Amino acid sequence: MIIVMGLPGAGKSTVLKSLKTEYEILNWGDLMFEIEKREFGIQNRDEMRKIPIDKQKWVQEMVAKALSKMTGKILLDTHCSVSTPSGYFPGLPFNLLNLLPVEALVLITANPSDVAKRRVADPTRKRDQDDVALHDQMNKSYLAAYSAFSGAPAVIIENKEGKLEDAVAKLHSLLK
Ligand code: AMP
Ligand code: MG
Repeated sequence: MIIVMGLPGAGKSTVLKSLKTEYEILNWGDLMFEIEKREFGIQNRDEMRKIPIDKQKWVQEMVAKALSKMTGKILLDTHCSVSTPSGYFPGLPFNLLNLLPVEALVLITANPSDVAKRRVADPTRKRDQDDVALHDQMNKSYLAAYSAFSGAPAVIIENKEGKLEDAVAKLHSLLK
């Protein structure tokens, strides 16, 4: 399993969509959204990070347990950390990371001002206008912690403005 993470608006899902691969691409947020629609009546995926943290934790754990049972070549689209009203919430707490057969940890990042612009330009999402640079710095810290804990290498991919293909090629080079 290759875990791909990144700031909202860094272009993580776009990079994954452009990738030609036999890996199965799974989105952690989709799996949480299905549960939260059913259990809590959540209607929009951008509401998920605003619900009480104990509920987010409960759903996060259900998804990690489901993912731990999946086999095959998986590329997992998720977050290093989620910016919530309670603070930065780790996407892969060690007890859950421990359940996943992680081969590589990839962070897709971009220039904070480009990320802020991409958020404003995306009408399909209700992105926050929070401190992008601080969140990116936190994500890099979490990435290092996940790598040290799991022993899986950490890879940082810059998704530069107008250079989507380069980011896609770099991710492609990591696949077996
Ligand atoms: P995305 O579409 O990738 O922005 O994901 C939608 C939402 O799913 C995020 O804003 C989070 O609320 C939630 N989410 C995704 N991955 C995780 C994770 N590993 N841990 C907790 N929440 C997550
Ligand atoms: Mg996404």
